[in-house]
Amino acid sequence: MFLCAWRGCVFVKRMNENPNAIKRTGGYVVVILAALALFVGWRMMGQEAGAEAATAVAAGSPYIQTETGDTAVAAPILESAADLPVLTEAGLAPAPYPHTYQGKVPEHNFETYVVKRGDTPVGIAEKFGIRTETILGGNPQLSQESSLLQTGVELIILPFDGVLHDVHPGDSLESLAQQYGIPEADIIAYAPNNLEFPYRLYPDTQIVVPGAVRELFVWTPPSLAAVSPGGGVRPLVVGTGTFIFPVNSRNYTQFFWYGHPGLDIALAEGTAVVAADTGTVTYAGWNIYGYGNLIVINHGNGYETFYGHLSSINVTPGQVVTKGQFIGLTGNTGNSSGPHIHFEIRINSNRDDPCWYIGC
Ligand SMILES: [Zn+2]
Repeated sequence: MFLCAWRGCVFVKRMNENPNAIKRTGGYVVVILAALALFVGWRMMGQEAGAEAATAVAAGSPYIQTETGDTAVAAPILESAADLPVLTEAGLAPAPYPHTYQGKVPEHNFETYVVKRGDTPVGIAEKFGIRTETILGGNPQLSQESSLLQTGVELIILPFDGVLHDVHPGDSLESLAQQYGIPEADIIAYAPNNLEFPYRLYPDTQIVVPGAVRELFVWTPPSLAAVSPGGGVRPLVVGTGTFIFPVNSRNYTQFFWYGHPGLDIALAEGTAVVAADTGTVTYAGWNIYGYGNLIVINHGNGYETFYGHLSSINVTPGQVVTKGQFIGLTGNTGNSSGPHIHFEIRINSNRDDPCWYIGC
């Protein structure tokens, strides 16, 4: 008993002399070492009781010398089991730390902005002195085709280029650094992320990745060969290369920008939609990536046009349509917050601004 208590005292004294060591190594190290020292001491007493303890004294065993070595004390001889040290809850070591250590979570406090009628992504970005891509960086919900940049929607405005990342189970500092191509040190250096060693991330929190740009998910429609009879690679028909308005409305609600690679035109549900140019229908049906009921026409010359959020589809894959031909009705399906059509033009699979072609 005496030996163990004494070991404990020596240990505590040593740590107190250097309080920084306690902070650096963490309290749990103290707990583990103290418990280990006590256990070893107890074992020594049990095994080397009696005459063996006296031998240890004579040999100058470190177990019974103080740090300064000025006092040599013989270990007590145990006479019964009652003399054995007992490890109890209130005894020789403080209670261990809980198994799961809850570190600091991120504390963000960003400016927000409610989209007003007539706002454009470029205008909002200029208002806050940021890039349009950064609007997307603060608003993960805009990363799919959507019409969410509409009046009344509240946006999170990051004050600098970067991405506000929703932490999912399995995410780590390393995986984020890899995903966005940003050094781990940059993510740690952003103080409101509250990242401290060992840099644990917590689901349902958000981490800012400074300097990152959010990648957009781009859905690819079937190829011409996939819908052509016999799988032929030659187009059934080639378009004129010029495009007309797919609807009889100019009520634009969202233009083309990094976060929205198409043109949104609002108009009553059930309004006629026509093919912007001659081509072959490669997709006609429900699209799970936000377009809702979608028609895609491949024009056989590198161009494809997309008509999204429809209420009715009146063509089938593989069908040839001519410029101006009726193909369906406008609607409010998919990722849409009001009746409108999402019109998209791709050239060699790259999204382009429809206004360059149809003159908004
Ligand atoms: Zn759209």
